Amino acid sequence: MSNIRNFCIIAHIDHGKSTLADRLLEYTGTISRREMKDQILDDMELERERGITIKAKVVRMDYTDKNGVKYILNLIDTPGHVDFTYEVSRSLAACEGAILVIDATQGVEAQTLANTMLARNAKLKIIPVINKIDLPTADANSAYEQMKEGLEVDADPILASAKEGLGIREIVDSVIANVPPAKVVKEDPLSALVFDSFYDSYRGVIVIIRVFAGKIRKGMKVKFMVSDAEYEVLEVGYIKMKMIESDELSSGEVGYVVARIKDIHNIKIGDTITESENPTRHPHKGYKEINPFVFAGLYPNMTSEYDGLKTALGKLKLSDSSLVYFPETSVALGFGFRCGFLGSLHLEIVKERLEREFGLNILVTAPNVIYKAKSKDKFVKIDNPAKFLNSSDIEEIWEPYVEATIVCPVDYLGSILDLCRKRRGKQMLMKYMNTKIVILKYHIPLAEIIIGFYDALKSASKGYASFDYVHINPQLGDLVKLEIMINAEVVDAFTVITHKDKAQSIAHYLTEKLRDIIPRHMFEVPIQAKVNNKIIARETISVVRKDVLAKCYGGDITRKRKLLEKQKEGKRKMRRFGKVDIPPEAFIAVLKID
Ligand code: GDP
Ligand code: MG
Repeated sequence: MSNIRNFCIIAHIDHGKSTLADRLLEYTGTISRREMKDQILDDMELERERGITIKAKVVRMDYTDKNGVKYILNLIDTPGHVDFTYEVSRSLAACEGAILVIDATQGVEAQTLANTMLARNAKLKIIPVINKIDLPTADANSAYEQMKEGLEVDADPILASAKEGLGIREIVDSVIANVPPAKVVKEDPLSALVFDSFYDSYRGVIVIIRVFAGKIRKGMKVKFMVSDAEYEVLEVGYIKMKMIESDELSSGEVGYVVARIKDIHNIKIGDTITESENPTRHPHKGYKEINPFVFAGLYPNMTSEYDGLKTALGKLKLSDSSLVYFPETSVALGFGFRCGFLGSLHLEIVKERLEREFGLNILVTAPNVIYKAKSKDKFVKIDNPAKFLNSSDIEEIWEPYVEATIVCPVDYLGSILDLCRKRRGKQMLMKYMNTKIVILKYHIPLAEIIIGFYDALKSASKGYASFDYVHINPQLGDLVKLEIMINAEVVDAFTVITHKDKAQSIAHYLTEKLRDIIPRHMFEVPIQAKVNNKIIARETISVVRKDVLAKCYGGDITRKRKLLEKQKEGKRKMRRFGKVDIPPEAFIAVLKID
């Protein structure tokens, strides 16, 4: 029986996971309140400086209980968002228990459900905590009822306020009493699960592991079983806010490994590390190759920024093993990159980092999923709508699907069912958690949720519905390629893949929208939508009539100049396509398809 407890905290976003983690660090004396502030600041500065995430997803707390018994409590952090489900599942696989936090003012939400399910699949002992009981609107009874009905968790919850430090001792006691101690298998060959890695510019890739059998120490020659790479261990240790070197990490323990690893892509989350000379016969099960699910084109706003974008993507890739990119050219947008992401949030994160950390202005095309098409008895993967085949060349087309979990108040049920129907969702479950809250499960094409679904859900429910998803098997789809022609030429960046039944309405939407956004020219500009070489919608931008300067009557020269400058600026940002200028907003219109 060991004195090690490996556990994580699972919660819906904003229910108080980070705040509770901070309280646990303080309570166990891992860090003082003052240090906490300094430390967190340092971390952020360092992150900014190096443009990378240095936060490891684990912290070790050494704790002595009131009887003088010493424990090692390893708190393992899990990524908070749907796009990272696989990584969450690998982090959970490193644990024996989970603290399940539910906000007493919000009750059970979609991520609470999804995470509880993952924890249950990982066979973790669940310790329910109802948080924020200090708030006047807290309704612990309702949260408890939802927990029992919706999550089918029976244990008595601990009532807590992470903010005010209430219930923290009970939580630590419960972790020690209820989370199964980590098993110690010292004599077997080394078997360690890789559940996180990050890039450090001084030491290269740092790998975070949970040892399940044997031990790992400096100088050992180890092998990563899936990636089939061998390294000599330079250092091992554990993380107590900073990395602390130790002689070895043995069975049951969680910590870091430094070897001379240059490329983060050699490290696969879910891989098993073993000793080269004496390999384990029990590699960790559950390893999955994770490929990007969502693709989009990233283009510099000005061609001079192309090299900057290339360098920035290279840097981001060092710390983000799931980001892929390769050069592509678009007739409309010029030179850029096609990038693959885990999901639309991942895309948002990358876009924001490129803008904030690297000061780039980029244009992102509408994201798309990967289709698998059967053509002439061969399967091809299509990651760019512009490369989609004509219907006559396709025998079968498979599109990726997800199982979406939505939790919403009954009041908004009608509009949410509508939304899911519009997005081609098939209802799999509708369950009342109590008289006010409903759980819905849908099978929905991934393509239907990566553009605007989350916003639509929020507006259909005044912000009350929550949402999570997991990937499921692809399904056959009746899909077509919808192309937009401006002045009789196809603009590849506007091409979308859509269900046959939605093509007509999207064609109208896009042509109308583009008619309003694209400025008038000295000639008439036709905008047409076509499917399989047939025009299905058309709008026309009429010829420009008035001189803009006619608007400012007479003498005000500064006003006139301002107007001219503004016009020039507008020009610069526009994309020249043949003889037609297309403003950047036009490319965003595709993102707003409803
Ligand atoms: P996370 O997204 O689950 O990590 O949630 P955070 O820990 O970031 O908390 C979200 C917000 O809730 C923050 O503004 C916290 O200060 C607040 N919060 C967390 N726990 C409590 C609590 O027990 N009481 C109150 N009143 N606020 C809390
Ligand atoms: Mg947090």
